[in-house]
Amino acid sequence: MKKIIIAIDGFSSCGKSTMAKSLARNIGYLYFDSGAMYRAVALYCMQNGLINNKIINTETLRSKMKDIHITFEADPETKNSLTFLNGVNVEHEIRTLEVSQVVSQVAALDFVRSEMIAQQREMGEKKGIVMDGRDIGTTVFPDAEMKIFVTASAQVRAQRRYDELTARGDSADFQEILENVLQRDHIDQTREVSPLKQAEDALLLDNSNLTREEQMEWLIEKFNNITK
Ligand code: C5P
Repeated sequence: MKKIIIAIDGFSSCGKSTMAKSLARNIGYLYFDSGAMYRAVALYCMQNGLINNKIINTETLRSKMKDIHITFEADPETKNSLTFLNGVNVEHEIRTLEVSQVVSQVAALDFVRSEMIAQQREMGEKKGIVMDGRDIGTTVFPDAEMKIFVTASAQVRAQRRYDELTARGDSADFQEILENVLQRDHIDQTREVSPLKQAEDALLLDNSNLTREEQMEWLIEKFNNITK
């Protein structure tokens, strides 16, 4: 069966990663989380004093981009994808609210995006991948054979993020998370470089009221139609 590229884009906290991961597992494809890459760059800025009071030292960051190496490895036990920043496993740190609060600003910088996009294209060279993000179907892989644009209401998305943080033992405040979701939507949709928007040939999936099983059935049906 021919291998394709599957691009899953959409708003923050719509469950894109969970969906992309289980789709990849079901069809035997590799999964890549492009948001984790932007999160790792944001974490690098925080660790190296390149962000103070939400102001990014862009010139220093630009000069450091060549020192930022992001890789993915499978967890030996769970087989989940783990994110490494310069050889260190940062999977937990990149998911904190502190990183979420600055990541969209970091991701709006043109030199950060061009570097990440180049790395993402390399990951897709052999096809057979599912990649999720904001601009995968529009900019990174405009020729992807299957494109999905996912959305859900902001309330539903904030609740999911709240459940995820509390489930792993982090403290969380629903209102703060909702504000963060709305703020990231705004920055992602209005930035100059590859803003978040639905590609013309993307299939729209509103999963506010879908179970994970219903969603997977829908995705597999689309995948089978495209690859048959
Ligand atoms: O997907 P996730 O919420 O982890 O992504 C974190 C942030 O990275 C997003 O809010 C967005 O600002 C940015 N991002 C992006 N382009 C992508 C993936 C993520 O700008 N392809």
